[in-house]
Amino acid sequence: MNYDRILIRYGEISTKGRNRNKFVEKLRKSVKIALAPFPNIKIEAGRDRMYVLLNGEDGIEIIEKLQHIFGIQSFSPAIKVERDVEALKHSALELVKSLYKEGQTFKVTPRRSDKTFVLNTDGINRTIGGFLLGNIPGLRVDVRNPDINLQIEVRSEAIYLSCENILGPGGLPVGSSGKAMLMLSGGIDSPVAGFMAMKRGLEIEAIHFFSPPYTSERAKAKVVDLTKKLAEIYGSSIKLHIVPFTNVQQAIRNQIPENYSMTTTRRMMLLIADEIRNKEGALAIITGESIGQVASQTLESMFTINEVTNTPILRPLIMMDKTDIIKIAHEIDTLEISNRPYEDCCTIFVPASPKTKPRREKVQRYESYFDFNPLIDEAVQEVETLIIQPVEQKSEFDSLF
Ligand code: ATP
Ligand code: MG
Repeated sequence: MNYDRILIRYGEISTKGRNRNKFVEKLRKSVKIALAPFPNIKIEAGRDRMYVLLNGEDGIEIIEKLQHIFGIQSFSPAIKVERDVEALKHSALELVKSLYKEGQTFKVTPRRSDKTFVLNTDGINRTIGGFLLGNIPGLRVDVRNPDINLQIEVRSEAIYLSCENILGPGGLPVGSSGKAMLMLSGGIDSPVAGFMAMKRGLEIEAIHFFSPPYTSERAKAKVVDLTKKLAEIYGSSIKLHIVPFTNVQQAIRNQIPENYSMTTTRRMMLLIADEIRNKEGALAIITGESIGQVASQTLESMFTINEVTNTPILRPLIMMDKTDIIKIAHEIDTLEISNRPYEDCCTIFVPASPKTKPRREKVQRYESYFDFNPLIDEAVQEVETLIIQPVEQKSEFDSLF
């Protein structure tokens, strides 16, 4: 039996009240981009579900794509049948027959969102269940744990049959929650933080601090590759801002007592990131920090570093263990890139024993002896902005909209 469409359930977006149309539109756009390689499909987006009409395209490949689109709760390959009992019987039989293997069990799960159909749920159960039992020798009913669960959904325009529910990733459609800047280091954590932010519907732009000649082109290439991976997940290009940070770091090394240099480095990074955020019209900064992981991520450090801005800092990994973060990095395919050896601008300048409990008053005093502002302005002005395309992306995708 060939399914003719895929029925997509929204899950969480359907709780978004009046914003729903906007969410549905964003999801439709994500689906359209992901399914661009299948020119014959048609997307029908409704208030509470979406249909992808296959029109002869490969359902298996499309299913693979849909499994990665944020905002999709679950989906089912389905068949549309006219609202007629005989047509329903016929299609149900054909579908179950095509899936049935010797000795398997089934059940019928009817749902009526439209109550005007001639059969009620009980009637559908008995009529279709009985018809299938009478026409497929060996088929048995098991309402608890059936091999085949025939879902029959009666709606006002038609009836839909499906036997499989495939889970989507959940979350919210990309871009539906606004834009935030991701501080992307090249380590394991920050790409995972970016992934989690995108899953909640955030559009991201990445910022990377780069300190040539102390950090090499390889370190930069790594961040470009990580951004590329994120762009692939995102389904569209991502801006990557590369900040020349050498002069600021050298000034810190010359001006700030060694055990506070890491604290000031982080404060300067945050200040610069915030300036870029402001220029780009984003409303938050995302980091890969996780509490207690390293000296800069103690509560005292965060309290002291965060002092430089009141922009919301989103820390998706804040309460996560490293092993769980690594698991996600592996799943989203960033781990291997993150594990490439490289020199981080922070590790190179990192003091032997950074303060784990830096104090605001102290760092303020140390920083007050030197005017960092011209260096900060210079770094912001000399940012190099790259538009990173996902690997598979072709420019003609843009013309679809
Ligand atoms: P990651 O694995 O993301 O590098 P980490 O465990 O190494 O994190 P830190 O090096 O303390 O932790 O960095 C904490 C966060 O600060 C990072 O997750 C990232 O968001 C940001 N960050 C660190 N270094 C850079 C950098 N060179 N450019 C941009 N952001 C950075
Ligand atoms: Mg790091």
